Amino acid sequence: MKSIDPTAKTSAPLLEPVVSTATNGVLVIDPIAVAEHFKAIVQSSDDAIISKTLDGTVMSWNPGATAIFGYTEEEMIGQSMLKLFPLHLHMEEALLLERIVDGQYVSHFETVRKHKDGHPINVSVTISPIRNQKNQIIGASKIARDITKRKAIEDRLNLISNVFTHTSEAVVITDTHGRFLEVNDAFINVTGYSREEVIGRDFSLFHSSRQGPDIYTTLLTELRATGHCQGEVWSRRKLGESFAGLLTINTVYDDNGIPAKYIAIFADITPLRKHQERLEKLVNFDALTGLPNRLLLSDRLKQAMAHAKRNKKTLAVAYLDLDGFKEVNDRYGHDTGDDLLIAIAQRIQTSIRDSDTLARMGGDEFVVVLTDVSSPHEYRPLLERILDDCNMPIQLKGQDIHVSGSLGVTFYPEDNSDVDQLMRHADQAMYEAKQAGKNRFQMFDLSRDAEIKSRSEVISRITQALVHDEFQLYFQPKVNMRTGALVGVEALIRWNHPERGVLSPAAFLPQIENHPLIETVGDWVIEAALAQMVSWQRAGLVMQVSINIAARQFQAEHFATNLASRLARHLDIAPSRLELELLETSALANLEDVVQTMMACRRQGFHIAVDDFGTGYSSLTYLRRLPAETLKIDQSFVRDMLDDNEDLAIVKGVIGLANAFNRQVIAEGVETIAHGEKLLSLGCELAQGYGIARPMPGHELAAWIASWQPPAEWRAAP
Ligand code: C2E
Ligand code: MG
Ligand code: MG
Repeated sequence: MKSIDPTAKTSAPLLEPVVSTATNGVLVIDPIAVAEHFKAIVQSSDDAIISKTLDGTVMSWNPGATAIFGYTEEEMIGQSMLKLFPLHLHMEEALLLERIVDGQYVSHFETVRKHKDGHPINVSVTISPIRNQKNQIIGASKIARDITKRKAIEDRLNLISNVFTHTSEAVVITDTHGRFLEVNDAFINVTGYSREEVIGRDFSLFHSSRQGPDIYTTLLTELRATGHCQGEVWSRRKLGESFAGLLTINTVYDDNGIPAKYIAIFADITPLRKHQERLEKLVNFDALTGLPNRLLLSDRLKQAMAHAKRNKKTLAVAYLDLDGFKEVNDRYGHDTGDDLLIAIAQRIQTSIRDSDTLARMGGDEFVVVLTDVSSPHEYRPLLERILDDCNMPIQLKGQDIHVSGSLGVTFYPEDNSDVDQLMRHADQAMYEAKQAGKNRFQMFDLSRDAEIKSRSEVISRITQALVHDEFQLYFQPKVNMRTGALVGVEALIRWNHPERGVLSPAAFLPQIENHPLIETVGDWVIEAALAQMVSWQRAGLVMQVSINIAARQFQAEHFATNLASRLARHLDIAPSRLELELLETSALANLEDVVQTMMACRRQGFHIAVDDFGTGYSSLTYLRRLPAETLKIDQSFVRDMLDDNEDLAIVKGVIGLANAFNRQVIAEGVETIAHGEKLLSLGCELAQGYGIARPMPGHELAAWIASWQPPAEWRAAP
């Protein structure tokens, strides 16, 4: 394109001067030069300068027009201007010509024309009528400027501005200090502030108490480091209401790459968050009372446990079940029942502290987690208040409705269980509170729980031991100390435990004393003793065998007849060769029945001994009634009688009683020769004890008998 160089004027004039000075000093205008001059201007203009007739036929066409529209002068002269018009704008030409005919100007009219190759061109057009010397309008001159580029920039800016203005997201432009330079409509809508109120302010204006101020610090640090940041922030509208926003901030850099501005886009996600909160509520809260449900409770309890452990505090888990709620439901209907639950929940909620949790388990069951108390007794007033909350009458439908509550409580970490087990323990204690008469609280008894647990373990382990044949009988000889004769053996059970080795009965029998399993074990002992007797008998060893019988087994129905029929299966064994040892304490505990069974046993021919005699404080009257042939002096008295006069007195007393009532007497716990000497001096010849022999497996007995000799002191005793 040809253009005029504005600096060129001074150096090399392009045109002949239009004005010259005549010799007489008058200025002379050279019309030809003027015409040339104008022509030069038209020819060198960047704008399209076109003239046309009143019917729109092109009369002149400058190079600027060629540059803009693509057509050459030859192509356009005599042609209709409509060639330049997009089809939909053909009407425009007619209207423009009408205005020209009217003598009007059209200036800086922006429109679209068509390039020779078909692409649209944005032009700004100024059209003026051309008049002849008679001032008649004979055509129009048209100056068109290509504004396509400017238009594109403008459109883009417009678009950006429109986006800025109309986007549903709040947009803020800030300076590098975060001060607001510009905000959009959405920002104004979301925050409730006017534009004037926020320009110059910063984000702290919107700070919400729903979160700490750190969020902005965190975001700013990230923004400085990376140029952008994003985070969810709770903010406050002008009227105080909180709203959740997803805030994205980007940096705008200047040409030197230095941050110039920030653009923050802020999407109001409050409805989303609210919806989420509603969903969470549905999952975690009880619909009727609005209290946390089981799920949330276990979460909160877990946290409270961790907190208690860290801070060395106690927490209580209290299980509450209302007493008489079912009756309320039955009598007044479920709606009233529901109202009652709501009312009680509200009362309890106000009784407990903010850090505590009240949850509904369903039905009329609630759980309260009481936190941060130093010791279990500090809970008492709190628990009593909860009971009072249940207890106070409630006015519903004009009636005073009355229920009460039973609470079961366990303390963590004293009760060092997991969440589920803590709840179970509290529930168990609640059940006990009900059993004990309701409207009270009951603490969970940890020690009993441990006992119950280990007992149930022992039971299953013993059952297994019976199956695996882990029990064995040992036998301890009973002798006449003076003559050295073996008068019998006592069968004593042992458990050959695969891990713990040989266990004595004290390690496992007491736990099953009151369990039916003791009878199963007892039956095994009887069978094993009989089998041993048969095998000894075959080897020529015949003697009396004492078997210890547990109270429970002795009192079982038909004990004597059952034992007799067992014995009948081992035909060679006379009933008198069996002695049944029964503890004095258990005989006295149920004297009537025990006496009956003893009589029955005696009728079958069995012998009866009262074991550990002296520990049960038998009165003379009782002793007279006990149909036992033998009294076994308890080993504790025998063992200590040499040093302890009171024990000696008891030993003497038992021996005296036995003589008086014509019973046999035998001493247990003879550990030394001196023990034997003393007993002999007191008139007791029969004895059993480590000083004679320790309990031994059945097959060792023959060898022991062959080798044993009573000490000379005993034989020589007076
Ligand atoms: P017990 O019937 O009084 O048996 C005597 C206990 O004293 C035995 O203990 C025996 O080993 C122990 N002993 C014997 N001589 C001495 C001694 O000189 N010094 C000391 N310190 N102890 C001595 P064991 O075998 O541990 O049995 C303990 C108790 O278990 C028995 O006391 C008996 O009441 C019960 N028991 C043992 N076997 C059975 C059984 O098969 N069934 C039932 N129901 N109870 C049994
Ligand atoms: Mg015994
Ligand atoms: Mg004993």
